Amino acid sequence: MKTHDVINQVPPLRDYDMFSGDTALAEALVREGAGWATDALRDFGQLTGSAEMLEHGRLANDNPPILRAFDAYGHRINEVEFHPSYHHLMETSMAFGLHSRPWTEDRAGSMVARVAHSYLMGQVEAGHGCPITMTFAVVPALQHAPELAETWVPRLTATAYDPRNTPAEHKTACTAGMAMTEKQGGSDVRANTTQALAMSDGTYRLTGHKWFCSAPMCDVFLTLAQTEKGLTCFLVPRWTPDGERNAMHVQRLKWKLGNHSNASSEIEYAGAWAARVGEEGRGVRTIIDMVAHTRLDCVIGSASLMRQAVARAVHHTDHRRAFGKRLIEHALMKNVLADLALESEAAMALGLRLARAYDEGKTDAGARAFARIATAVSKYWVCKRCPATVYEALECTGGNGYAEEFGMARLYREAPLNSVWEGSGNVICLDVLRAMKKDPESLPALQTELGAALGKDRRYDGLVAELEGALRQTDTLELRARAVVEKLALALQASILIRHAPDFVADAFVTSRLGERHANFGALGPGLEFDALIERAHPLAP
Ligand SMILES: Cc1cc2nc3c(=O)[nH]c(=O)nc-3n(C[C@H](O)[C@H](O)[C@H](O)COP(=O)(O)OP(=O)(O)OC[C@H]3O[C@@H](n4cnc5c(N)ncnc54)[C@H](O)[C@@H]3O)c2cc1C
Repeated sequence: MKTHDVINQVPPLRDYDMFSGDTALAEALVREGAGWATDALRDFGQLTGSAEMLEHGRLANDNPPILRAFDAYGHRINEVEFHPSYHHLMETSMAFGLHSRPWTEDRAGSMVARVAHSYLMGQVEAGHGCPITMTFAVVPALQHAPELAETWVPRLTATAYDPRNTPAEHKTACTAGMAMTEKQGGSDVRANTTQALAMSDGTYRLTGHKWFCSAPMCDVFLTLAQTEKGLTCFLVPRWTPDGERNAMHVQRLKWKLGNHSNASSEIEYAGAWAARVGEEGRGVRTIIDMVAHTRLDCVIGSASLMRQAVARAVHHTDHRRAFGKRLIEHALMKNVLADLALESEAAMALGLRLARAYDEGKTDAGARAFARIATAVSKYWVCKRCPATVYEALECTGGNGYAEEFGMARLYREAPLNSVWEGSGNVICLDVLRAMKKDPESLPALQTELGAALGKDRRYDGLVAELEGALRQTDTLELRARAVVEKLALALQASILIRHAPDFVADAFVTSRLGERHANFGALGPGLEFDALIERAHPLAP
């Protein structure tokens, strides 16, 4: 029995061009040195915005991985079974080199091009980005062991995804994971108790556990274990060189708040075969080269979630009507949307600027110094802003946003994760202070970047002067670290937008972020160009 007509519901945001509908991204791509990738990204944006791809993202999350620890006969096999859509996402990301391009493509801007692709793919599905990121990030750390790098880097940068659990030499491409966190300590990895026993042939056997090991179906892992000389970095393959399953046992998969497509496991090493990477006792120093790159991806990943949530909010309010007009036409909704759009653009702009520092850092020490500190500053701030942004965007879509099948719930559950892993908020703020102390070039490099925007806006000039004062009071710096890092991040974002964004964006950002602040979105003052800000963020903009 038909009781009513369905009216005033919003058409799904799908079969759209995710790249061309993102004006700010297209501008940033050119600005940060990867304008040459525009055509490729246009094609990729069609793919990521297609109904088919978005459906794969949904299916991969609605059908989370299952651990098959044993086979039917009781043999330990440590297999993780994924939905075909997860494999499709992995296959796509690897085919486009989201895990490898900066290492295989000797072209200025290849990191920026890569993160722009990741930014789009993350809007389809974030969970599979975990092994993609780790596979990408392991390459710099492997340079500490040139012989291992020679064997493994070609496998890890190959683009033909191969999900089989079989020895690496038989595969068309391999993936990498990272296992540091133990039960008694994640931030403080010096508390690791896993032991590494040296063998006469120069290899090691590991005994102990890891409390978190995401993507345990990867082919190889970097891990930390204690030797007589202290915490050391090791490479642990899933199969030993003798062709046996390595004694790295997946105990169970974590039942998590979000990130459902990604298997995060607890593992045990029962005399697992391992090869040393880097010097004994210098494990943290070695694996940090991997962590720096995963932190860059945390920034991009958070910006990506923010963008998808804001795009959906703008799209929804553009169609949904209440009290006689479209939601997007109501003054207070305009305020919320414009504010969200600013936050999302500032996050993306900072992420792409950071990526350029990684590109330039290949040959420029100043860019490396900037990347060192700016990665931590950006990781703290962008990842912290993500949950608040996604939540507010969800609210723009009303009750539908809270319903599972609408898609916002998945973004919301995913939103806090980038701030937790790869160094949680406090740890990252302390890392900013560590960079200032241990890498004396890093703060001056950041100050040079900030200096480039001076003289254009007195509110910005005031913030930079205030920051200089705040950094001079070193005695209470640890206590004030969050407050200082927040301001550093805002100054960095403002410096990019003041120099490069349209005036209405820069002015709104400076007015609302460097002036009087409010706890919630949607409290911008009058006089800003609300319509232009929203139009710029519209996913279906011409
Ligand atoms: C879904 C998921 C997947 C993960 N995958 C992996 C993985 O693949 N490999 C891996 O190694 N790890 C992984 N992790 C673990 C993650 O990196 C750790 O949870 C994280 O580093 C925090 O460590 P912890 O859980 O031991 O918390 P703790 O170290 O106990 O920290 C708890 C809190 O204390 C704060 N804190 C710590 N030290 C200080 C200090 N000196 N001053 C002030 N505050 C401080 C932290 O910022 C944090 O907020 C994963 C985590 C999650 C949630």
